[in-house]
Amino acid sequence: MNCPRCDADFIWGGDHDFEDYGYEGDGIVTNMSCPTKWCEASLLLLLPETTRLIDIIDRAEKKVSLSQTEEKSACERND
Ligand SMILES: [Zn+2]
Repeated sequence: MNCPRCDADFIWGGDHDFEDYGYEGDGIVTNMSCPTKWCEASLLLLLPETTRLIDIIDRAEKKVSLSQTEEKSACERND
């Protein structure tokens, strides 16, 4: 990932749990910093636990395949 201010590559500083930063839920906080001396930008990247996201994607895919089946059977009925 590049620094939005000076475009240098951010240096990975370490990973911490959400709990360490007082955030709710489970996830990882990745700490990154810019190596450019005059810039000194730093970045906290929040990576929430993905199980909920996977669950949402899974449900969305099931919905899509279900509607496709419905369309198909509707077409068959028309024939
Ligand atoms: Zn920078």
